[in-house]
Amino acid sequence: MQRLSVKEARLPEAIGQQVRLSGWVRTRRDSKGGFSFIEINDGSSLGNIQIIADGDLPNYESEIKHLSAGSSLTVEGEVKQSGGKGQATEIQAASIVMHGTADPESYPLQKKRHSFEKLREWAHLRPRTNTFGAVMRVRNRISRSIHDFFQGEDFLWVHTPIITASDCEGAGEMFRVSTLDPANPPKDDKGNIDYARDFFGRASYLTVSGQLEGEIYATALGKIYTFGPTFRAENSNTSRHLAEFWMVEPEVAFYDLTDNMELAERFLKRIVSDVMADCAEDMQFFQDRIDNTTFAKLEKVTEGKFQRVAYTDAIDILEKSGQEFEFPVAWGHDLQAEHERFLTEQHFESPVILYNYPATIKPFYMKVNDDAEPDRPTVRAMDVLTPGVGEIIGGSQREERLDVLEDRMRQQDLNLDDYWWYRELREFGTVPHSGFGLGLERMVQFVTGMANIRDVIPFPRTPGSAEF
Ligand code: ATP
Ligand code: MG
Ligand code: MG
Ligand code: MG
Repeated sequence: MQRLSVKEARLPEAIGQQVRLSGWVRTRRDSKGGFSFIEINDGSSLGNIQIIADGDLPNYESEIKHLSAGSSLTVEGEVKQSGGKGQATEIQAASIVMHGTADPESYPLQKKRHSFEKLREWAHLRPRTNTFGAVMRVRNRISRSIHDFFQGEDFLWVHTPIITASDCEGAGEMFRVSTLDPANPPKDDKGNIDYARDFFGRASYLTVSGQLEGEIYATALGKIYTFGPTFRAENSNTSRHLAEFWMVEPEVAFYDLTDNMELAERFLKRIVSDVMADCAEDMQFFQDRIDNTTFAKLEKVTEGKFQRVAYTDAIDILEKSGQEFEFPVAWGHDLQAEHERFLTEQHFESPVILYNYPATIKPFYMKVNDDAEPDRPTVRAMDVLTPGVGEIIGGSQREERLDVLEDRMRQQDLNLDDYWWYRELREFGTVPHSGFGLGLERMVQFVTGMANIRDVIPFPRTPGSAEF
């Protein structure tokens, strides 16, 4: 007897096999002929499989006829060709073992559909819904594709620290690990100062980006990427910001801004085509049930070249657009979500790579453009903007000239001593290099069309999230 997943048992190849399957009941229907149809799902695919339970099974009256949505079982039986529409196979049960019941009075995931807001309150149950099952399978496929892509191009996966002393952006978006408050140090049970709980008395934070540490490895080993959790103390309630999210950050020695853009484009095309090939059923669900522009948007990624637009030209387009934006458009200001959406959804109708941003709105480590207009200094930044989500990638060529870097640090009031090792990378064998960060959740949002970032991560961390 083979143990199969629902996904495997739904394939025509399974017909004729004796199998064992386990899962959670979605529906039960009793036929007048004295037998029942039970649909189960085990998370392996969007589709359920139908079990036919005859009335002569020993526990038919005592258990099977009481199975309701949410109860769990294991069935043994033969996979048969199904007469039903939209399903190739079904299981003729030889035995059904019930593991757990779910009281229809209190089990929340009944036929009634709940809003995604409501489902967030049930982070422990929402993975049992079609939408979250599909999101998690796509999220998993994207994560695998990220590794496949970089490993296939000989990048090394470097594990950068979660707890760090460096404030990558200097933007004050870091969660503190240590209190470093001499007046109120953490104490142990006996009232002694507990330095270990204060990260050994050193200033320390949760990482906002592994980039600076990634540069260390890129400028020794060539091509690297990081992929892990990242934290930002963003006290904002938007549909695309989380306090804890996953980021993938490639960093490559000897790459300039153009190489960086090409890498980003190749990378996104690969993720989208992997997901379309391997998650066809889930993707059809997103197209039909979540956002019917999903396939069209994704096609723009896999086919054709991304639009490349200099920041200054984008400002020009926005100024001449005749649109009434909530936030003003002016050279020197960062683009807001509404501007990004106008460019990608209305003007270009495709993904856009914006590059050469004003130096004043970008961090110190981005390479200064020597040929910019003197009163409008720019840096070699690039953001990839997508319809629906806006910015999904932020990156740049890095400043490899020590003197220029130090000038920029002083301009931004950074303490040079804090970055002694970063500066030494420029002092000893400096090289041009570039990299970018892709937010995993933004990518999942883009691929699935899910409107809110809270609904593409298992446990969203936001200012409002409490229990989970
Ligand atoms: P935004 O302008 O949307 O706030 P950012 O410019 O601050 O993003 P970067 O520092 O460029 O973000 O980070 C690189 C990528 O990480 C972004 O392009 C985005 O995909 C993702 N990202 C950044 N902040 C968040 C967040 N709070 N939640 C989820 N993803 C994020
Ligand atoms: Mg931000
Ligand atoms: Mg941004
Ligand atoms: Mg950015």
